[in-house]
Amino acid sequence: MWKKPLRYLLPYPVIYSAVLLAVTVSVLLFYRNIDHTFEELTDAFLRYQSDNIEEFARNIEVRAVQLVPDRPVETLKHNPALRERLNRILSLFSTKSYRYVYMLRLDDSGKLRYVADGSFEVGERGVFGQKFDPDSDAWLKALRSGEPVYRIQDNFTGLWITYYYPMKIWQKKRYLLVFDISLTMLESFKTLILPIRGLLKTISAVLIALLALSLLWAVLFYFQRRKNSIDPLTRLYNRNMLDEVRHRLDLRKTSVILADMDHFKRINDRYGHDTGDAVLRHAARILMRMTRPEDILIRYGGEEFLIFINGVESREDVIEIAYRIHNAFSMHPMRYNGHELQITVSMGVVPTPGATMDLSEAILMADKMLYIAKTTGRNKVVIFGEEKNAPRPLLYHEIEESIREERIFFLYQPIYDAESMELAKYEVLARIRDKEGNVHLPNEFIPVIRGTGAYREMSKHLINDALALIREKGVSLSINFDINDFLDETLFETIYDSFERCEGLTRQLTIELLEENPVHDMKGLENKIRQLKELDIEIAIDDYGKGYAGLEYILAFRPHILKVDRYLVSRVFSHPHVPAILESIVTTCRRIGIKTVAEGIDNELQLQKMRQLGFDYLQGFYLGKPSEKLVEEERRQ
Ligand code: GH3
Ligand code: MG
Ligand code: MG
Repeated sequence: MWKKPLRYLLPYPVIYSAVLLAVTVSVLLFYRNIDHTFEELTDAFLRYQSDNIEEFARNIEVRAVQLVPDRPVETLKHNPALRERLNRILSLFSTKSYRYVYMLRLDDSGKLRYVADGSFEVGERGVFGQKFDPDSDAWLKALRSGEPVYRIQDNFTGLWITYYYPMKIWQKKRYLLVFDISLTMLESFKTLILPIRGLLKTISAVLIALLALSLLWAVLFYFQRRKNSIDPLTRLYNRNMLDEVRHRLDLRKTSVILADMDHFKRINDRYGHDTGDAVLRHAARILMRMTRPEDILIRYGGEEFLIFINGVESREDVIEIAYRIHNAFSMHPMRYNGHELQITVSMGVVPTPGATMDLSEAILMADKMLYIAKTTGRNKVVIFGEEKNAPRPLLYHEIEESIREERIFFLYQPIYDAESMELAKYEVLARIRDKEGNVHLPNEFIPVIRGTGAYREMSKHLINDALALIREKGVSLSINFDINDFLDETLFETIYDSFERCEGLTRQLTIELLEENPVHDMKGLENKIRQLKELDIEIAIDDYGKGYAGLEYILAFRPHILKVDRYLVSRVFSHPHVPAILESIVTTCRRIGIKTVAEGIDNELQLQKMRQLGFDYLQGFYLGKPSEKLVEEERRQ
């Protein structure tokens, strides 16, 4: 579900964090390098020094053995002049940086004692025989191994290297030469890099802190953007995303589709808002499944979805994709709380608008196509460029004009008595002729004008026409109203007044109640229906057995007639349950005194079956199509 939304939400702070990360890593590497450089320098220095020192030590050895060929302790003990000469030999090798140069001897009790000392400062020199306190056992290592050992000391007096050189003259493994070398050069280098090192350390710390902050920022940014750009209900993008993707779309390769669910309000009204929400999620899932990751899905309005099909240039392919999406809805009805909801959508498609339109125009055009789909029956796909093939939808003002100019007219479809097969009455069906002479069905104009002045005007025409016909021809007529029309007070008054003025004629009138939308005020309606019944008008429930019309109306309105929808009639031979259902409807109605009508009879077999099932009235193309003329008049001609 997330694959699509994520793609366009790459937060810019991520880029920022990445740059910061790179900088931090380089600084840390540099920091480490500096440490490393210092170590390398120390190493090089040591190598250089040890070469020097061995040279010095050998030199000292040669001179010392010349001075005291044998038994040095005994010889030196009683000869201060000789001791002084030995000191002087050592002092030849002492300088400001070779500050301490002295000779030690391991005595028989395991203690180190001075033999000679040629250190730079005479005052700091040790005296012959004086005990020497070593601060490590490096000297021991040197004596034992016979190899020089050095030790680096970093104490309050500075950085030092102490060399222990095991002497190879006199007695083996007893005499040591010690050189203390002050590392002033290294030290100055260290004093130079220490602040740099400290600075780098601080910079690294700051960078790491910044990095942490920017990562936090990235995370917050991402969640904020997700909140702003993703619709929480469907998890699709919301309208805000349009601005984000606007610049990324190449309209030569992008097609625009607007899909709007049909009669969604009914689902909300009928099953509640939660079910409505679940249906929206279901729709989003279908759309997700039917599109590819490169396509973009936006919840554009309440139950309207904007789809960008990306990277498909062929018009035919786009159209195929659109139909595939459309079909997916009928193939996947939704189950919710035990209800099966058949969802349909209307779609407006603008395949690759290319150079002819910008995005806003393309969306507007898709909306126009959608409007055509809605006003010409819904549950269909209208493609830009092919919309001429679809019947042109009527606009409100055109319908209003047609009614005003009396281009509204009525057809009459016969209804027969099932037993005698004699004509019983006619159902009056409205039509509108547009200026080009095309005739339009009620579903093309009634939804557009319902609840408006034009609708009242049309109802007035219908009633006047019907009453006039009853008066002139003495026929019985059946007219249609939406059940909610009677809750429109102005409309009801108009209707009621007309009926009241022709009281005698209303006995020959039936009102068929349709249900476009569920009823909210059942009590109010019951009252209106009672008033109509008092005028001897017969009440019929239309479209019974399909959609919403239910038993509630039978109980509340106590109709005279029940019209069973063609949905059931047409399935009487194809669905095994239908005959039993029809039979029980007929039986029940007979028991409670309601007459039944079977509509939509298309052939002789259905006709016989309906008669056999015991319907009271029959209607259908097989018996008579809606016509401008009455059956009697046609027969007479
Ligand atoms: P049409 O076929 O002409 O499109 O009829 P419709 O009923 O689908 O369209 P309409 O625009 O009349 O009604 C849309 C309804 O969608 C009205 C609104 O209450 C409902 N709606 C909008 N957003 C949501 C939502 O998030 N959840 C639910 N449950 N309903 C919503
Ligand atoms: Mg809708
Ligand atoms: Mg009807």
